[in-house]
Amino acid sequence: MTAMAATLIDGKEIAARVRAEVRESAAAFKAKKGVTPGLAFILVGDNPASQVYVRSKGKACEESGFYSITETHPPDISQAALLERIDIFNRDPLIHGILVQLPLPKHIDEQRVIEAIDHRKDVDGFHPMNVGRLVIGLDCLRPCTPAGIQELLVRSGNDPAGKHVVVVGRSNIVGKPIANILLQKQRGANAVVTIAHTGGGDVARFTKEGDIVIAAIGRPEAITGAMLKPGCVVIDVGINRVPDPTSKTGSRIVGDVHFSSASTVAGAITPVPGGVGPMTIAMLMKNTLRAAQGDVYR
Ligand code: NAP
Repeated sequence: MTAMAATLIDGKEIAARVRAEVRESAAAFKAKKGVTPGLAFILVGDNPASQVYVRSKGKACEESGFYSITETHPPDISQAALLERIDIFNRDPLIHGILVQLPLPKHIDEQRVIEAIDHRKDVDGFHPMNVGRLVIGLDCLRPCTPAGIQELLVRSGNDPAGKHVVVVGRSNIVGKPIANILLQKQRGANAVVTIAHTGGGDVARFTKEGDIVIAAIGRPEAITGAMLKPGCVVIDVGINRVPDPTSKTGSRIVGDVHFSSASTVAGAITPVPGGVGPMTIAMLMKNTLRAAQGDVYR
């Protein structure tokens, strides 16, 4: 095997820096205004991955000096009852952010739930008010994973300005918002962006052109070194569990990028885990602080 050429972009370290900054700002805000940022988690059902996510987000709140509350509901909670809980948190002055952990059970309309959250408390950045403002380049609560990707690029010395960014995947959670963030005529953005997806046939003809390739497709190790331009920057958003008989648990986590081949071609690359993942939680803390400070929507 060829030796790894790429520099590793350390998401854990960069996320820790962002979280330390948030903790400091939150303490200063509390000292000045007497307000503790508060985040409400709503968890429906017993999806183990969702439980893990909410637990680690709760821990991050504690570490940031935030107040947080987690409400767990049975999988058969009615949509009306769930909307009612959201409404209560919308009116609760101690709560500045509301996060309904997705996915929700099939009988609940996710979009209805997203739109029921007061957009000023929408720390996931999924409400159409935040999505719309992001697209037209106005300040808003930005979705955490894409906001974290931008932060990773800038803080690792890979400013996207003037670069050709190829985003693979067009989900509302990652692909579309990261493309919209990076194309803005703003600091830390100003890139030329291509969005590749299953409608475009062979994805390699796009990825090969990318100075920065952002893979968000949910397909284990699908983007290989042969599909990349030498020296490019690779951001691997994927989190896929694959069988691994050599591991104690019988499985392991891999990204959407085939790390061993990609890292011989790329100039810089994020690992999985330890790349984009930690940034998502860091940006959630940042959004919650901003929501508490109330400076996005005055
Ligand atoms: P998603 O909703 O399933 O969307 C995947 C997108 O990729 C779709 O637009 C799909 O195209 C496209 N796609 C799938 N296979 C493709 C292929 N072979 N070539 C080109 N495009 C392809 O997924 P998501 O929510 O964006 O998540 C993507 C990955 O990121 C997953 O592994 C997820 O676990 C991970 N993730 C990680 C974090 C984090 O914090 N690190 C956060 C969110 C998601 P079509 O639209 O044409 O179907």
